[in-house]
Amino acid sequence: MSLTVYNTIHRQKEIFKPLEDGKVGMYVCGPTVYNYISIGNSRPIVVFNMVRNYLRFSGYEVKYIQNITDIEDKIIKKAKEEKVDYRVITDRYTRAFLEDVKNLEVGQFSSMPVATEMIPEIIDIIKKIIENGYGYVVGGNVYFEVGKFSGYGKLSGQNINEMKETGDEGFEKRNKIDFALWKEAKEGEPSWESPWGRGRPGWHIECSAMSTALLAGKIDIHGGGIDLVFPHHENEIAQSEGAFPGEGDFVKYWMHNGMIEVKEEKMSKSSGLKENWILRNLLKIYSPDTIKLYILSTHYRSPLEFSMGKLDEAGRALEKITNTLKNIRFLTGQKDTSDDLRISSNLEAAVGSFEQNFKDSMDDDFNSAKAIGDIFELIKNINNIIQKPDFEINSSFKKVLQKAHERIIELGMVLGLNFEKEVSGISKNPETRTEITKEEIEKLIAERETARKSSDYKKADEIRIYLQSKGIILEDRKEGTIWNLKG
Ligand SMILES: [Zn+2]
Repeated sequence: MSLTVYNTIHRQKEIFKPLEDGKVGMYVCGPTVYNYISIGNSRPIVVFNMVRNYLRFSGYEVKYIQNITDIEDKIIKKAKEEKVDYRVITDRYTRAFLEDVKNLEVGQFSSMPVATEMIPEIIDIIKKIIENGYGYVVGGNVYFEVGKFSGYGKLSGQNINEMKETGDEGFEKRNKIDFALWKEAKEGEPSWESPWGRGRPGWHIECSAMSTALLAGKIDIHGGGIDLVFPHHENEIAQSEGAFPGEGDFVKYWMHNGMIEVKEEKMSKSSGLKENWILRNLLKIYSPDTIKLYILSTHYRSPLEFSMGKLDEAGRALEKITNTLKNIRFLTGQKDTSDDLRISSNLEAAVGSFEQNFKDSMDDDFNSAKAIGDIFELIKNINNIIQKPDFEINSSFKKVLQKAHERIIELGMVLGLNFEKEVSGISKNPETRTEITKEEIEKLIAERETARKSSDYKKADEIRIYLQSKGIILEDRKEGTIWNLKG
């Protein structure tokens, strides 16, 4: 089976074939930095990290760009409210965004362009749009003339005669659906020099400028939330194809994730729900992997309900996986209890077909929900065998279980889930919480390492026994010492 992707612009799944063999250019719209990001803003970040990882796993070299919008009406409004320079706002929330992304553990972007650092590129592309007859200047403003661009509406599937005005209100526009490329400076607002006088870019233009500059016109995948289809992405197509006519489609595959939904009445009744809508608050309660498992357990195009119940459910599901992994580690570290080398053929078959099932699920438009189902299917098969009271471990079983353990961890990482870390970390479950912190454990492990190097085995042993008394089991491996919670 080959990878298929649902392409919003053609409203169908298509076989994925990048513009250049073996290479993929991805551009995903990032946040406007005027507040903390929500769990809703986090969905595209988790989803497109999974998309990037799977493309890499499938052998592609991937360039993944995500922008930061640091000049926009909402930022200016917030700066006015707080009576500070707009940069105070953008610095604060850019820093918060970077922290959140780091804490969510979703890898790095290949590049993260910032709008105000791309003003020359933005001015260049607006000039091209005007030269090609798609843009017009009124006073210090520049607008895109929608009626001149015959492809307008092709992404959102709308007829331009039925379109509503979506912003940039003003009597000076030739048509109400025209949108601003450049906005004339207003008193006290941030502005830059341009051929049309001092001003600032409209919101849509930065994505056309950045993707052109950083991906050299080779955009295989353009992603974002479904709420960006119109007008933002429709406008990006008009701008980019208007600036570079005759160069083909601006983007090959348009991918949009569904929204995270929360019932309004529920949100207003529960202040906790409102508070936890903010990602950094949610991360105080749940591990990053729990949040990612919650997001990825639903196909990316489907709507996803936000509730604490759903997150708790993801936490329990994660624990089920990590418990099985812990049991495998325990069993494979034991002496054989049987020299019978027969093993369950069901288990061998389940482990053997796991990777292929996972790939088939992911090849079907990145169906992470189904891929997670494949992991649970294997977990169930393993538990059916190893949880039997009369189960005897032998070296053949060890080999199969070891392979299952490796594959689950490896394919979990493809989804962006770090089961290895979850297995080794302190559980957030109060029943298993220990009285010793992770930092203390690591400090003691380092002390033990030093003791062992200087052949002070007595001290090394004392540390091991002390940790054991706190419920921490050490495991010495050739790559170093790892620790687990007892039981
Ligand atoms: Zn964008």
